Amino acid sequence: MTLVQPPFSDSSKRPDTGLMAKVAIVGRGFTGLMTAIALLKGFDRPFHLVMFDPQPKIEGGEVVSQTASTVLNSRVRDLSVDPKTPDDFRQWLETENAWRDRLDPDAVSVEHAFVPGETFSAYVYQRFSQALRDRTDVVVQVCPESVTAVDRHPRSGLSVFYGEQERARFDAVFLATGYGLREKLDEPSSPSAVRNAAVVGGGVYAVDKALRLLAAGEASHVTLISASGFLPQSHARAGVGHVLSDQPLPRTLRGAFRFLREAANTANAEGSGWQGIMNGFRLRAGDLWQGLTPEERRRFKRHVKAIYDSHRNRLPPEHYQRLHAAIESGAITLRKARVERIVNNGVLLSVPAGLEVLPADRTIDCRFRPTDIDVPLFRSVFRAGLARRDEVDIGILVDRHGRAMASPDRFQGLFAMGPLGLGSLPDIDLVPEIVVQSHAAASAIGAWIDERAETRDVRNSG
Ligand SMILES: Cc1cc2nc3c(=O)[nH]c(=O)nc-3n(C[C@H](O)[C@H](O)[C@H](O)COP(=O)(O)OP(=O)(O)OC[C@H]3O[C@@H](n4cnc5c(N)ncnc54)[C@H](O)[C@@H]3O)c2cc1C
Repeated sequence: MTLVQPPFSDSSKRPDTGLMAKVAIVGRGFTGLMTAIALLKGFDRPFHLVMFDPQPKIEGGEVVSQTASTVLNSRVRDLSVDPKTPDDFRQWLETENAWRDRLDPDAVSVEHAFVPGETFSAYVYQRFSQALRDRTDVVVQVCPESVTAVDRHPRSGLSVFYGEQERARFDAVFLATGYGLREKLDEPSSPSAVRNAAVVGGGVYAVDKALRLLAAGEASHVTLISASGFLPQSHARAGVGHVLSDQPLPRTLRGAFRFLREAANTANAEGSGWQGIMNGFRLRAGDLWQGLTPEERRRFKRHVKAIYDSHRNRLPPEHYQRLHAAIESGAITLRKARVERIVNNGVLLSVPAGLEVLPADRTIDCRFRPTDIDVPLFRSVFRAGLARRDEVDIGILVDRHGRAMASPDRFQGLFAMGPLGLGSLPDIDLVPEIVVQSHAAASAIGAWIDERAETRDVRNSG
């Protein structure tokens, strides 16, 4: 293992790495780190990996969440980074005393427990370090720069442009830029308690933030502003797995969701809970999505996504109960409204009657920030014909290996991983799906490097 620290140099000029495949990963969030782990474990030839990200840290606490203490809403049993060992995270927790001691003592069992982001981040980072130690034939460089463009290299492969107009050549590039360059959170380190706080967002992160403000005495009342009016549903107390119906799933959006509603109602009436049905439905969502027309996909984005998300991204049961107790006691007020602007003394809301100012002593924006597809980096790959937008315009068109396709069967070494592929692959923003995709990508890159070598040999001999 060699972990080379900056300053970054183009290793293709170095004799010791001259024969190595050169691979770039752009972004060192969970997707970037997971892709690196999968390459270290599954790409079975020497390679030189450069990981770009202006974020200075590559260690625990920041991998999956900007707020390390946020409780993840996936159970321990669903967070293994090794698809061959599904209970790897549980095993790690049971051998790491320091982290095991922080587990919720009321959890049904370790595998059904929910843990804070920092626990999961420590696990991912440790698995990354181990995978790196096991590879003496790999050089890893960390480059603290943001990547501004990717283009075809004049000779072969891809050019990555970064920093102040610097450029390096790679055989393959993995874009793992998730939700974009992170802004520094401007949360005060020891905030003074306020009477009224507003939390913008209706997802698990917003709910978590609202509950933490109340629990820490930082606010006596919180208004939770959800654009759709939906809030996350609850996980079942113990994991319910995937309940799969043997009936075929209807192939239209309307039909599929009617099917889901009926199956969930039946499960609820029988007392087994709708969560298992939803989990089973998600396993089949990829095939359903592939069969939908572009118009149906747009309709999903406009009308169904908010309610679908509130059922797939669920709260740990204990959080769900605290949320509803706080709503009943009046400590949390839910508002359905679109936020026009966050102003000094509150939030400017758009409601059916017009505009309204909601006064707040402190406002925290926890909205899900979708991938911005109009940044220079993505524009460069579309312009170079290395990739194209998906039909619903929320990301890059990819296959299940994360391969970006400018046209069918025209892969040119560019991968777009994790949330960047949300318009092509449902749920690819979640840890289990990112894990599977990273390992699939690691197997695809070997075939790609071989194909390029064969093309080069034919050209040289001809
Ligand atoms: C609070 C929170 C809790 C979550 N809980 C769960 C959970 O319980 N279960 C689950 O399955 N999922 C969960 N998720 C979702 C899942 O973890 C995310 O979808 C996943 O973390 C996305 O990671 P990412 O690396 O793709 O994106 P990001 O985390 O956004 O990271 C992207 C990185 O790329 C860098 N970058 C961006 N642009 C450039 C550029 N041009 N050049 C170089 N670097 C760049 C950024 O600086 C950043 O470090 C959670 C997410 C959050 C935020």
